[in-house]
Amino acid sequence: MNEDVVLLHGGAGSKDSFSERLSKYAMECSNIKDSLEAVIHSVRLLEDDPEFNAGTGSVKRIDGSIQMDAAVMIPGKLGSVIGIERVKNPVEVARMVMEKTPHLILEGDGATTFARKMGFHDYDPSTERSENIWKKTVEYLSGKNEEMPKRYENYLKFSDMFDIPKSTDTVGAVARIDGKFAGAVSTGGASPMMRGRVGDVPLPGCGIYVGEKGAVVATGIGEEIIRRMFCHNIYMQIGKESLRNILEREVEAFNGIEVGVIAVSGDEHASFSNTSMATGLFSR
Ligand code: ASP
Repeated sequence: MNEDVVLLHGGAGSKDSFSERLSKYAMECSNIKDSLEAVIHSVRLLEDDPEFNAGTGSVKRIDGSIQMDAAVMIPGKLGSVIGIERVKNPVEVARMVMEKTPHLILEGDGATTFARKMGFHDYDPSTERSENIWKKTVEYLSGKNEEMPKRYENYLKFSDMFDIPKSTDTVGAVARIDGKFAGAVSTGGASPMMRGRVGDVPLPGCGIYVGEKGAVVATGIGEEIIRRMFCHNIYMQIGKESLRNILEREVEAFNGIEVGVIAVSGDEHASFSNTSMATGLFSR
C-alpha cells in the first residue's frame, strides 16, 4: 500500500509564505484515518483562518453580500453548496448534503435553510480584510466608464488596466488514506463578481473531481476552470504519464490566466500553479 498523503492549497495567488501554516494544518490530520475526514478537517481549519478566502474572510460580491461555495467528493459521491450565506463552515454543509439528502447540490436559500436545519448557526463571515477588498472593488467599478456589464465581462482585462483588486485564495485539500481518495474545496468566489455568480468550486468536474484513480481540486478564475472542465480533464489523464507533467501541461494551457491545482493518484501527489500558491503536505 502506498503512503498516506494529505495535500492542501491556500488558493491561486496566496502567498507562498503561508505554506508553513498550511503544513501545520496538514499535520493536524496525522491522527485521522479516513480520507474524507482529513480533507474536511483541513479545509475547516482553512475556512476558520481569516487570511483565506473561504468561510471566515470570504470576499464580498459587488453588492456587498457574501455567498460561499463548497464541495466534497469521494469516488461516486458528491456534496456541494452554491451561494450559501451566513454559515461558518460551508464545507461541513456540503458534507451534510452528501450524507443526509438524496441530492448532490443545494443552492442559495435552499442551502442556507438546510444548513440551519442541520444546526449550523447564523454566522457573519466578513472581516476587515474582506470589507477593504470590497470597498476598493466598488471604487474601481463605479469609475468613469458607465457600462458596467461590458466592464464586468472583461474584468480580467480591466483588472490589469485599472488594478481592480482580484481576490482568489480559495482553499482546497486532496487525500489518499489507506488507498482511498477524497477532495474538498471552499471559497467566497473570485472578486469582482456579481451576486449569484457561480464559480468552479461547487461544480463536479470543474473545481473538484474524485474517482477510483485519484482526487483533483483546482483554484483560480472559476470561469476559465469551468470552460475547460479542468479537474475532470486532469483526472482522465491520470496514469498516462507522471502526475506532475499532466498538471504542468494543463496549467500552461491557461496562458497565464491565474490557476493552480493539487492532485493525488494511486502512487503520486503533485501541485502546480502559474502564480504563487501556498501548499501544505502531510504524509506517512
Ligand atoms: N475558483 C474560485 C472561484 O472562481 C476562486 C479561487 O480559486 O480562488 O470562485
